[in-house]
Amino acid sequence: MARWRAVAMSREALSGIGFTSDRTRKRFLDRLMGQGIIEPAVLDAFKQIPRHSFVPDPALISRAYDDIPLPIGHHQTVSQPYIVGLMTQMALRGASRLGRVLEIGTGSGYQTAVLSCLADKVYTIERIGALLDSAKERLGAMGILNIEYHHGDGYLGWPGRGPYDVILLTSAPSQIPFSLLQQLALKGRLVGPVGTKHQQRLVIADRTSDGFKETRGEAVHFVPMLRETV
Ligand code: SAH
Repeated sequence: MARWRAVAMSREALSGIGFTSDRTRKRFLDRLMGQGIIEPAVLDAFKQIPRHSFVPDPALISRAYDDIPLPIGHHQTVSQPYIVGLMTQMALRGASRLGRVLEIGTGSGYQTAVLSCLADKVYTIERIGALLDSAKERLGAMGILNIEYHHGDGYLGWPGRGPYDVILLTSAPSQIPFSLLQQLALKGRLVGPVGTKHQQRLVIADRTSDGFKETRGEAVHFVPMLRETV
């Protein structure tokens, strides 16, 4: 709660003032709960992170608490709150903390910020340098310190910081990159969308003592996971 208030005082967040009202926040959380986001730790994280601070276009700030993805430039979007909640809840599996997390696709940093409330440390990789720089600045201004940033190709992961308890993808590869599975700790879990531009499903891959166990979840629509860095 203290963090929300601190953020609401910052210059960037002032443009979104009014959306930090108790009523807006309550409606936002009630809707998430109605959609099945019920883990107290996840709801707590949503309470702490003001989504309007992650929407760069002032004309769209009034939509920040709607359950829709919103453009963040460079043909990318800030993820839909329900999907952020669902993936975070899948990563958490009833525990209260996430441990060491690798996120592929920083984007605006919204999912990164939600994860940072639950993780010991978040390692986040983004292929678009300009997006990474603004996310870093935004999250730094919010006083969130347990994040390390990397401009690079997420297909390669970040082996130097692994293994990870959780790997979360925020863009869709056609199949789960094996290099990422290799960076999962034993009993670690990867969560992300997998498929083509038009047909994707959320997939969970758990690392067990005999290999990997894959579970397919609901249909989703994410931007594609691309290769080169820009
Ligand atoms: N969770 C982010 C979602 C951003 S959209 C948010 O809420 O803002 C997905 C992001 O994945 C985009 O920023 C895109 O540039 C990034 N991405 C796509 N392919 C990637 C790759 N190979 N490595 C790193 N990031 C990638």
